[in-house]
Amino acid sequence: MRRVVLVGAGHAHLHIVRHAAVLRAAGVDPILVAPPLFHYSGLATGVLSGALSGGQAQIDIAALASHFGVQHFAAEATAIDRPGRCLRLTDSQDLTFDAVSLNVGSVTPDPGGLGRGLDVWPTKPLTGLIDLRARVESHIRERGASPAIVVAGGGLSGFEIAAALAGLAERKGAYPRIHLVMKSPATWAPRQAITRLSAALRRRGVVLLSDEVVERGVATCELSGGRRLPCDMLVLAAGLSAAPIVASLGLPLSGDGRLRLGPTLQSLSDPAIFAAGDCSAVEGFPRPAAGVFGVRAAPVLLHNLAALGSGEPLRRYVPQRRWLSIMDLGDGTGLGMRGQLWWMGRSALALKRRIDLGFVGRMRAPSGEPLQD
Ligand SMILES: Cc1cc2nc3c(=O)[nH]c(=O)nc-3n(C[C@H](O)[C@H](O)[C@H](O)COP(=O)(O)OP(=O)(O)OC[C@H]3O[C@@H](n4cnc5c(N)ncnc54)[C@H](O)[C@@H]3O)c2cc1C
Repeated sequence: MRRVVLVGAGHAHLHIVRHAAVLRAAGVDPILVAPPLFHYSGLATGVLSGALSGGQAQIDIAALASHFGVQHFAAEATAIDRPGRCLRLTDSQDLTFDAVSLNVGSVTPDPGGLGRGLDVWPTKPLTGLIDLRARVESHIRERGASPAIVVAGGGLSGFEIAAALAGLAERKGAYPRIHLVMKSPATWAPRQAITRLSAALRRRGVVLLSDEVVERGVATCELSGGRRLPCDMLVLAAGLSAAPIVASLGLPLSGDGRLRLGPTLQSLSDPAIFAAGDCSAVEGFPRPAAGVFGVRAAPVLLHNLAALGSGEPLRRYVPQRRWLSIMDLGDGTGLGMRGQLWWMGRSALALKRRIDLGFVGRMRAPSGEPLQD
């Protein structure tokens, strides 16, 4: 048997775990190194807004791995010795491998060091959003008013987090006090969609500003022009970069720090290192961070990992040019987008819930009950 260590239980590896029998039949033994719970990003803002419970967005990785007969180490990989073909875990255990597959996702970059301040909340890891919800709820309970929140970042997740926080305040009977501060104009959706979304957020009490948060003070945030905003909590939502272990590999990376891959999902200079999802970039196909790419790469990754044992020719993965993306706006509505097409309303959120809750349901061990908070 050849041994493949799957690092991270991201979208692609969930599929691999469910199809571990295919690998074993090909002579490949999969081992999973991942935290025991997976927090599904598609439902993260639904949890933050108070519409869903934390448990509805979680997948019990330990139960899934056990159900499909995959040996699981409930830990993170901290270092990979490529020449020695050995991987070190957070609990200092070492695992040898013939190949490694990385599906470790992304983290929130913080080049300005704002995260060192008090009450600063990066969007990733997503577990932080559950704690942020509890923090906002207790503030409203104790003071009878919403906290002043600044969301730094004008990308899709910055807008979605601002909408979710507005939804949370609304659910708790408070008027939202939120500033969404963006360094450059939002271009991640058709212009009319951004205009309509911005107007909807303004109506709900979100103030949109073109500026940059440069410093966290006591109950304030300072912007690049010197203006200070009231700020009980600061959310960092300015983009995503590859999980830190990727930079330590000594392999070719893209400009934004992702592992550069050929079409077979292998590193450009080490064929024993495979990857999928946010932590990687397929040469010639720059794509934004989205779970759908890991999902679509998964069957190709499964085939190519199995080919290590079966000797079959490897398959090529071509990321799709258009994809459906639906934002949860925290008030029972959503914004759906595919290429230049978009629509906003309840049907968009209903479709999102069907897709995302369906995904989480399929990834639970067949006997698994939804986890409780
Ligand atoms: C607020 C928010 C909302 C979003 N909503 C959506 C959405 O609705 N739809 C969408 O498509 N995308 C959404 N995204 C983007 C989405 O989070 C990512 O694109 C997606 O999760 C990437 O999937 P992945 O499979 O690459 O990795 P992930 O889903 O991030 O999974 C990676 C896993 O690897 C684990 N890991 C990390 N490092 C290690 C290590 N060293 N060892 C072991 N395990 C490790 C992590 O704990 C994590 O469980 C959202 C992002 C944010 C911040």
